[in-house]
Amino acid sequence: MKGLAMLKIGEIGWIEKERPACGPRDAVVRPLALAPCTSDIHTVWEGAIGDRHNLILGHEALGIVDEVGSEVKDFKSGDRVIVPAITPDWETDAAQRGFPSQTGGPLGGWKFSNSKDGVFGEFFHVNLADYNLAHLPKGMSLEAGVMLPDMLSTGFAGAENANIKFGSTVAVLGIGPVGLSAIAGAKLRGAGRIFAVGTRPASVKVAKEYGATHIVNYKEGDTVEQIRNATNGEGVDAVIVAGGGYEVMMDAINVAKPGSVVSNINYFGSGMGDQDVIPLPRIGWGFGMADKNIMTGLCPGGRVRMERLAEVVMCGRMDPALMATHVFKGFDKLEEALLLMKEKPKDLIKPVVIV
Ligand code: NDP
Ligand code: ZN
Repeated sequence: MKGLAMLKIGEIGWIEKERPACGPRDAVVRPLALAPCTSDIHTVWEGAIGDRHNLILGHEALGIVDEVGSEVKDFKSGDRVIVPAITPDWETDAAQRGFPSQTGGPLGGWKFSNSKDGVFGEFFHVNLADYNLAHLPKGMSLEAGVMLPDMLSTGFAGAENANIKFGSTVAVLGIGPVGLSAIAGAKLRGAGRIFAVGTRPASVKVAKEYGATHIVNYKEGDTVEQIRNATNGEGVDAVIVAGGGYEVMMDAINVAKPGSVVSNINYFGSGMGDQDVIPLPRIGWGFGMADKNIMTGLCPGGRVRMERLAEVVMCGRMDPALMATHVFKGFDKLEEALLLMKEKPKDLIKPVVIV
């Protein structure tokens, strides 16, 4: 079978591999709709998690079940499914402690395009099918559905971890598809004012539709100053970090007020200097004592998460398809879509490939 792979740091290409084998509790799935992620860009072009050789990329997919193992109960060949980006080992200690994304060590639930071949192949393997697949609801468009495995799950996690109360003031730093999903999540959790920080016009438009009340252009002025000026110098109750380099954590802490949460869902592809660190502002952080709490999270995965996100969409609470700005037809277009995600033209939010 054919797949689009990371050949080594900085290089991608099409490769041939064996179709994956299916374990007794697993499934082998064919892609129906795929999307590249900015994380694929960090992984390949920044070498952020180390080198990978001939590893098939991709972790955002809707699919058609091709084969299931003998012990799989709820799925059969031909079923249309949502495949979460994160497919935890549900029987592990970390999952039982409530952190399924971290099974088998930090980020261990993230298997596709990290520790095993991803979904950009003609077939891909899904562990624990009954726990890690969800049925694609009838009537959900592929453009909407393919945003669930990662964009909605990650963005909503950013809002969940931010402890947003009714009327909380929220700043979302970065309004790519992850930040936009965080804005939608913040609104659904009852936020009052939502500051959306970013510049790309396509994103600004959707940010307003998803609930942003203020747009902050970080290129035309200091983010912290602009948000402080708009909040009587106070700052915000919650910051969701969804873009930018390591320096963005300085802004996040400086714009957060005491008692706030800084909820990071950003993937820091690189750090500062030889020590590869992410600096925090000593004074802005109240010398470490200002009750400005940092939360971090990898995208939640698994079946129930996907079913709940599908419920949000099917009940018309938000329309994730608004983020699908570039829709390609055909598996062969994957490379073009991935490179577009790398280039990030101004009219792009998210490319989607309908297979
Ligand atoms: P995009 O590149 O599409 O969006 C990034 C956003 O950050 C843009 O709006 C950009 O602005 C903005 N930005 C850049 N620099 C700054 C800055 N200094 N201050 C404020 N905003 C800034 O990324 P995605 O939305 O696709 O992904 C966001 C991050 O989430 C990535 O790092 C990705 O790898 C990570 N991610 C993490 C996951 C997880 O499980 N935690 C899962 C999936 C993705 P502009 O509008 O000017 O371009
Ligand atoms: Zn991702």
